[in-house]
Amino acid sequence: MSEASCQRRPYRRPVVFLDRDGTLNVEVGYIYDVNDLVLLPEAAQAVTALNKAGLAAVLVTNQSGPARGFYPESHVRALNQRLASLLAEQGARLDALYYCPHHAQGSVPEYAIKCTCRKPATGLIERAFAELEDLDRSRAYMVGDQSTDIELARNAGINAVMVNTGFGRAVMSGEFQWKVDPDYVAANILDAVRWIIADIGRAGRDA
Ligand SMILES: [Mg+2]
Ligand SMILES: [Zn+2]
Repeated sequence: MSEASCQRRPYRRPVVFLDRDGTLNVEVGYIYDVNDLVLLPEAAQAVTALNKAGLAAVLVTNQSGPARGFYPESHVRALNQRLASLLAEQGARLDALYYCPHHAQGSVPEYAIKCTCRKPATGLIERAFAELEDLDRSRAYMVGDQSTDIELARNAGINAVMVNTGFGRAVMSGEFQWKVDPDYVAANILDAVRWIIADIGRAGRDA
């Protein structure tokens, strides 16, 4: 590559993909009342730390409620808006929010499809890389509390962090879903974010 084209190459930000339930907010199963969506205590501080460090924070969440006929897709958007508002009240900003409303065994035909966006399929992450042009795929992390989150990271070829909130502890002890091997197991989302920021710093120094 010529020097001139190097100079024109735009700066790309590291990105942290964040699961929603059990990672940013308390895992309580399907949430029918938006007021029942409650942030985990460390969530706003964690997202603020990403904002301040110049990392993109992108939500990627499976929400099969519409496919199962539990509530309309607009309710998923309302829940995500509630999450973003609760974070914003504490000065924390999500750069983008992506969700999958599908489930292959759902009862609502429109959503009962074998899609390419339900985690651990990579559709949501691929959409983010396509739509947000300043993301650095070589410095990308997925943080979540389920085996599917870690498997998503592996399928997308990015780093994987498990949190011990939500289902995380049960997954890591072998009581729930299946065993996975994340790059780091964090106590919670703030611990995860601190490890990621340090990991990026380490990689920068090694480069
Ligand atoms: Mg989760
Ligand atoms: Zn989907």
